[in-house]
Order: sequence, then C-alpha cells, then structure tokens
Amino acid sequence: MSSNKAFNPFEMAQTQFDKVAAILDLDDATRQILRNPLREYHFSIPVRMDDGTTKVFRGFRVQHNDARGPSKGGIRFHPQETVDTVRALAMWMTWKCAVVNIPLGGGKGGVICDPHHLSMKEQEQICRGWVRQMAKNVGPLNDVPAPDVMTNAQHMLWMLDEFEVIHGSKFPGFITGKPVGMGGSLGRTEATGYGVVFTLREALKDLGIRLQDTTAAVQGFGNVAQYAIELYQQLGGKVICVSSWDENDHCSYTFRRKSGIDLRELLKITDKFGGIEKTEAKKLGYEILDGDAWIEQEVDILLPAALENQIRQDNVNKISQKVKVIVEGANGPTTPEADKVIQEKGIFVIPDFLANAGGVTCSYFEQVQSNMNYFWEKDEVLGKLDVKMTAAFHAVSDLAKKRNLYMRDAAYVISVSRVAQACKDRGWV
Ligand code: NAD
Repeated sequence: MSSNKAFNPFEMAQTQFDKVAAILDLDDATRQILRNPLREYHFSIPVRMDDGTTKVFRGFRVQHNDARGPSKGGIRFHPQETVDTVRALAMWMTWKCAVVNIPLGGGKGGVICDPHHLSMKEQEQICRGWVRQMAKNVGPLNDVPAPDVMTNAQHMLWMLDEFEVIHGSKFPGFITGKPVGMGGSLGRTEATGYGVVFTLREALKDLGIRLQDTTAAVQGFGNVAQYAIELYQQLGGKVICVSSWDENDHCSYTFRRKSGIDLRELLKITDKFGGIEKTEAKKLGYEILDGDAWIEQEVDILLPAALENQIRQDNVNKISQKVKVIVEGANGPTTPEADKVIQEKGIFVIPDFLANAGGVTCSYFEQVQSNMNYFWEKDEVLGKLDVKMTAAFHAVSDLAKKRNLYMRDAAYVISVSRVAQACKDRGWV
C-alpha cells in the first residue's frame, strides 16, 4: 500500500472541519462539540484460535455526533486500523448522513485484525466479542452498525444474533447490511457504487460532458468499485484500469487494458477481498503496472475506491491534464494538501461524503424496512436512492455555484450547518 506513516486521518478530518467552521463563523462551543467525538469505546476481544491458543484483538466504536438521530456507521476489520482512523470515519459519517438529509448521526467501529489470516470461526468470535463489549451502548435507537472494509453480511448477521441473544428479543433494526431474507435490503450491495455513479452522472450533465464519451481509471476493485464500474459501463462509459491490493506481494498493482476492462471476466479472477489474480489477468491481456499507475492515466474521470490517503502531495501532480472529474468512492482518499492542488488545477471534485453516501442512504432504507417488517422491491430501493443522491448532489452544486465555493467546501457547509443547527435546537450549545 502506498501510504505515508505520518498520515493521520483524524487530523485531516479536523483540518477540513476547521476550514468550514471558519466559513460558517461557528461559535467556540459548537466548534468544540463538532471537532471531537461525543463518545468513544476501546476494548479487548479475546478469541480462542483454531490452534487452541487465545489471541486478544483490539476493538473500537466511536460515536461522533447523534444530534440528528442515532449514530450510524460501519465496522472495519483491518490490520492497520487505528483509533484515529475510526474517529475520522465517524466524523465523516456525521457529515455524510447530513448531506443526504437522513435522520442519523455519525459513528464508526473497527477491529485490528486481518481476515485474510482468520478462519470463519475465528471471525465469528470477533463479531460476537465486539457485540458483547458494546451491547449496552449500541442499538436501533442509539447506534446502528453496518459492514465496511473486510466485513460483510455474514459478519452483520453474527453480530445481530449476539445482540438479540443478549437482549432476549428481536431487534432487526440494530444493524444494517444484513443478508437479504434475514432483514437485509435488496440493493444494499449495489448502493454505494451505484450512488457514486448517480452523482457522477449529474456532475457530467452540469459540466456539459456526455458520459458515453468518457473514460475512467479506478483505484480498488471491491464492493464500491465493482458496482460503480457496473453502472458506469451500463451508461456507456469506459474503464481502462483498476487497481487492487496483492496480499502475497504486500503491495498494490494496477491492471490496465486500454480497450476497456471486462467486469465479468475480472470478477472471475478476483478473491472475496477484491484482490485480482495477476497471472490470470496477464493471460486475459491486462498490463500489470505499479499500484500508483491508476492516478497517472489519461482519462476523464478518476475514481479512488480503495482506502484513505491515496491522492497526496507526492503523487497529485501525476494527475493528467485530461482529468475533468474526481469522484471519491473511498472515504478520505485525498489529503488536504493534495486537495489544494486539485482545486488549483480546476478539476471538479465530488467529495467522498457526498459521492459515497449511497451506502448509508440504503442502510437507512434497510432500517426503515426492518422496523416496518415490510421489504421493498429492488427497483423501488434503487429508485429512491437515485432520488436522494441526485437531490443531494444538486443542493451541493447549486450552493457551490451560488457562493463560488469549491464542491468539498459547499458539501461541508450544508452538512455542518445542519448538524450545528441540530445541536443548537437541542440546547447543547
Ligand atoms: P472492499 O474491502 O470491498 O474493497 C477494497 C478494495 O481496495 C479491494 O479491491 C482491495 O484490493 C483494494 N485495495 C486496498 N488497498 C489498496 C491499495 N493500497 N491500492 C489499491 N487498491 C487497494 O472495500 P469497499 O467496501 O469497496 O470500500 C472501499 C472504500 O469505500 C473504503 O474507503 C470504504 O470506507 C469506502 N466506503 C465503502 C462503503 C460500502 O458500502 N462498502 C460505503 C461508503 C464508503
């Protein structure tokens, strides 16, 4: 992974917040409340490993703000997870729920572990252990977890089961991202990637560019990237490369085919973590380039959909002059220093917490359906998602035009003012 050791996502989230707090001229108390999480939990999860030893994993949950509704946010399993990453992601969740105007706050959780090297039984124990530690502080009315990097519907179901055993009743609204048929929503798997493309489609319309005439380079080939590529290609766009993490070589690679990648074909040689098999890809005519190569491609659109801290001061100037739009599928892919350069270059940015808000919006739909115990058809879910994402995009782009703001700043102005207002209305500040 290309990453800078000194990078601290929480400092980055706070820097972004400070910028918008100044634009909005927020008072000191509101700044203090919003600059830091309201609450956080750090705990140990002991697991009896398959070889008979006991290993202790570190878990976290951060509830950044719940003035607008229960905290909402995923749980990541990652070997390099840090509490500052979780804090940053929790804060971004607050802004994300606010920008799409759903009645939820922001939270995030994580466990320092690497599912590549854990059996399903060991992962189940981590899930159940996480819930045992948090059972009194999460729930449908105060904090609703969801999947994130390296967690999926199965992990959510184990967590739900443990929560229901502890509380002795059924609480389908406790967690989202559940399997379909077990309280999950149709369309959730597609939601984040499709949501990214709904905002991209609207941006291109605004810019007067035909989507069918565009090309894109994608970083990552997991849930977000795969479904974003699916819809973008269905609408006529051409993806010339994707990149993914190689667990054996401990680095990432870019897989390029200038005539366009074939999603179905690549999926056949991709593991469940979104890692692409190099030798097989070569046979299919893909060039294997270094991990950072995706950013240097002569394309109209860059779609980072892997991890945070990927567009930095050291590689931002590699971005081709042809690039017109950066649509941030990942959370926090662009550092503030790189962001300044992108702004100066005049590239249109669809910021992460707007672009990838489709996931949480669909999670909200899942909560609504779970609480009603009535489930909608997939078309209805995706139709409602399109309406929400399109409305959120235009609210941000209209404000950006009206006040001559950078798109990221306009999105922040909308989100932070909504959350600040909720804190005020509740009498917190
Ligand atoms: P995922 O685990 O399904 O896929 C991640 C992909 O990134 C994999 O293909 C992996 O090989 C690749 N990758 C990892 N490190 C890399 C590197 N250094 N260089 C290149 N590729 C690398 O994860 P996901 O669910 O697709 O999430 C991707 C990003 O989107 C994360 O930042 C996540 O927080 C964010 N996000 C996800 C959702 C969701 O609903 N899944 C919602 C909102 C935001």
